[in-house]
Amino acid sequence: MNSPPRRIAHFDLDAFFVSVECLLNPELRGKPLVVGGKGDRSVVAACSYEARKFGIHSAMPMRKAEELCPQLTIVQGTRTAYSHYSRIITDLIAGAAPVFEKASIDEFYIDLTGMDRYFNPLQWTIELRQKIMDSTGLPISFGLAPNKMLAKMATNEAKPNGWMQLEPSQVQDFLDPLRVDKIPGVGDHTFRNLLQLGIETIYELRQAKLPLLQQQLGKHGVDLWQKAQGIHTSVVAPWQEAKSISTENTYEQDIKDPAILLQELVRMTEKLGFELRQENKMAGCIAVKIRYPDFETSSRQRSLPYTFYDDELILQARQLFQELYRKGQPVRLLGVRVTELTDEARQTNLFQDMNRKAELYKAIDSVKTKFGKSAIFKAGSTKK
Ligand SMILES: [Mg+2]
Repeated sequence: MNSPPRRIAHFDLDAFFVSVECLLNPELRGKPLVVGGKGDRSVVAACSYEARKFGIHSAMPMRKAEELCPQLTIVQGTRTAYSHYSRIITDLIAGAAPVFEKASIDEFYIDLTGMDRYFNPLQWTIELRQKIMDSTGLPISFGLAPNKMLAKMATNEAKPNGWMQLEPSQVQDFLDPLRVDKIPGVGDHTFRNLLQLGIETIYELRQAKLPLLQQQLGKHGVDLWQKAQGIHTSVVAPWQEAKSISTENTYEQDIKDPAILLQELVRMTEKLGFELRQENKMAGCIAVKIRYPDFETSSRQRSLPYTFYDDELILQARQLFQELYRKGQPVRLLGVRVTELTDEARQTNLFQDMNRKAELYKAIDSVKTKFGKSAIFKAGSTKK
């Protein structure tokens, strides 16, 4: 039996950080506006559509952006607000969608395959978009298409503040005229390689000889050639429970000293922070678990602004521990877990710029990678 054609919706907030800033301060609306730091090494984390008209784009050095647009308004990010709105939207989608994936802080995939037996998928998606806009006041676009890649590309073409549906029969006409770097994942490097082969449009890419692509670009070439025909098999990965990172320790001898317990807690949380940064993920929730010698186990969790920074995770872990720990009791097992993981933490880019904190963690992580994870612990994890 043939499987039914897939129907995937991709939602993406338009200029998310900028839109949130305008919501918090309506005077910013309509201005060329960027989010980012003002220091020498700052880069643009996000920019308004008005700023884009001056040639400004994200990841551009702030100095350059100011040169391009002298009247540019620069605001520093409000990360707690972005997390707050991201969560509201996640909850709205979770309440409506059968299966969804949170691909980043402002991007979602929903699998609607087979749902046309129960409702009209396009109508349903239009209504969900309206609900998100009514509830948050934020502009959001969607693409509805036969796979994830096409849905994302449809969203990108529909932006800002629009939507696009692609039926299977429309796919090739949609793809052909687009430039090859519209394919998600085709960066500057690949784009230049393709240009050198005389390939600029997706039409030219799909007409290219496969052995040539294979020879020039290896496996990636085959993958691109398939994408040019609209072929992409990646599935919507259900988000909630599946993604978590945790660590726990059962102690050979129960630990009685609260100072040692706290030290253990910090060490474990740092380990999770390191893993998050290595995997380019942020966590939106942290949980602490304690088991006592009689096997009674309790745990407690808390939401936090999406982060991959140790100090922010440790602050919450410590508070949870204080709330949870029965004073004076020896402990048999201690565990820490982070959930609500979102991908592409670095692509959201804001975090490269926050108070040079990212630089610090990059330095720490490179030492950790070089000398093993135990090489560095920040003050407080070694003593106390
Ligand atoms: Mg977005």
